[in-house]
Amino acid sequence: MTSHRRRVRFAPSPTGDLHVGNARTALFNWLFAKHYGGDFILRIEDTDQERTSPVFEKNILEDLKWLSIEWDEGPEKGGRLGPYHQIQRIDNYDKYIKELISAGKAYPCYCTEEELEAERASLLSMRMMPRYMGRCKKLTDKEREALESRGRKPALRFNVDKGPIEFNDLIRGEMKFEGDAIGDFIIVRSNRIPSYNFAAVVDDHLMEITHVIRGEDHLSNTAIQMLLYRALDFRPPEFAHHSLILGKDRTKLSKRHGSVTVREFRNRGILSPALLNYLSLLGGSIGEGKEVASMEEIINMFSLDRAGKSGAIFDEGKLKWLNAIYIRNCDVDKLTELLLPFIKEAGYDIDLMNRGWLHQVVAALRDNLVTLADVGLYLDIFIDDKYLISDEARAILREGAAAVVKVLRDELEQNNIAERDFYPNLINSVRRKTGLKAKDLFLPIRAAVTGRTSGPELEKVFAILGKESIVRRLERAIQIAT
Ligand code: GLU
Repeated sequence: MTSHRRRVRFAPSPTGDLHVGNARTALFNWLFAKHYGGDFILRIEDTDQERTSPVFEKNILEDLKWLSIEWDEGPEKGGRLGPYHQIQRIDNYDKYIKELISAGKAYPCYCTEEELEAERASLLSMRMMPRYMGRCKKLTDKEREALESRGRKPALRFNVDKGPIEFNDLIRGEMKFEGDAIGDFIIVRSNRIPSYNFAAVVDDHLMEITHVIRGEDHLSNTAIQMLLYRALDFRPPEFAHHSLILGKDRTKLSKRHGSVTVREFRNRGILSPALLNYLSLLGGSIGEGKEVASMEEIINMFSLDRAGKSGAIFDEGKLKWLNAIYIRNCDVDKLTELLLPFIKEAGYDIDLMNRGWLHQVVAALRDNLVTLADVGLYLDIFIDDKYLISDEARAILREGAAAVVKVLRDELEQNNIAERDFYPNLINSVRRKTGLKAKDLFLPIRAAVTGRTSGPELEKVFAILGKESIVRRLERAIQIAT
């Protein structure tokens, strides 16, 4: 029974923050596990000790959790087939290394970096594909001993058979590579650390991974890994290589295109469900152009085929559009919590803010925020000693807004507008007295009261500011207007 259970894994190398492309790979694996009721395993591929950093690892785990991509087995959680850090699994590999050596499928290679570089250069100069040509394969035992006595530490190379390498890809169909084009590759480096391809195969086998879902940039690695599956007599998992996220210029999404890590989007005020929704449907949609979908719908509809066939162009504008929808649909309490760090970041002391007041402000601003960070653009409207009158608003006030602003001030000062339906009554009365409507009526009022020409609903702004503050602002506007 358990043998039919699907097991997938996400295997990041902690050499940088989580890129949205990798987050999408993690998400596809997670969705696959959720869709079929399987297990999602997180394995940290930290054998490259020079480039690996515990800070990146911590950030990757944090970002996955922030995205609600929780793992069933992995770091912090454990599981029956751990450990889940590759560096702690080094001893596991010995047995398989010995097997390959005794079967004549692996041999020590003593070439130095300089020798390998010279070989690459000479192949290139003959217009041949650079690859290892097998110099150390032909060494006799004596020659090996001699090299070792000179202090040379060997790497271990896999003896690649000529002939085709074929596998079925669940997204791309039948794939075929030529063994001749692949040079004998390293499986263990001279520092005794196994290479990615070798470690990944042994780990995927020992962790009972049934499906490997990863980016198409790994296709050539899969060909190499198939050779190892064969040589070690392991049953290979199913493979699915999804397309990569591209920038608008159709090259692989990278720093040059702008923000690319989950952390950057998070710090810019993108909500995690909006990013998840975006990454799930990027390059496709849930039928009939539906673009906003709950996680449950996304899990139900998930199919590898839809997920990753054609290259997906990353469109930040669309992500922001989705984000605004998620903000608009967010409950005010929750949104207030989410906004606190951004309010702080914008230079406000949140400890001095009355929570009831802040709640009202958030409710007023909710429809205007595209990202959480936008809160900094609007907050000053509600704070008397911070609010400023923009140049556009000044221009509106100077273009003959004095009349309407004065009427509004008088109405407020006379104080004979009923409290009930205060705002509509107030506006009606100003409309009657000035004969103005629509933009001619509202734009000067907005400019005078908020100092802006666009922003939150005036009715909400009026309710938050209260009469005294509005009258003070109107006096100031009258000075500008006359
Ligand atoms: N550590 C590899 C990477 O981050 C994993 C690739 C794989 O999924 O096998 O690219």
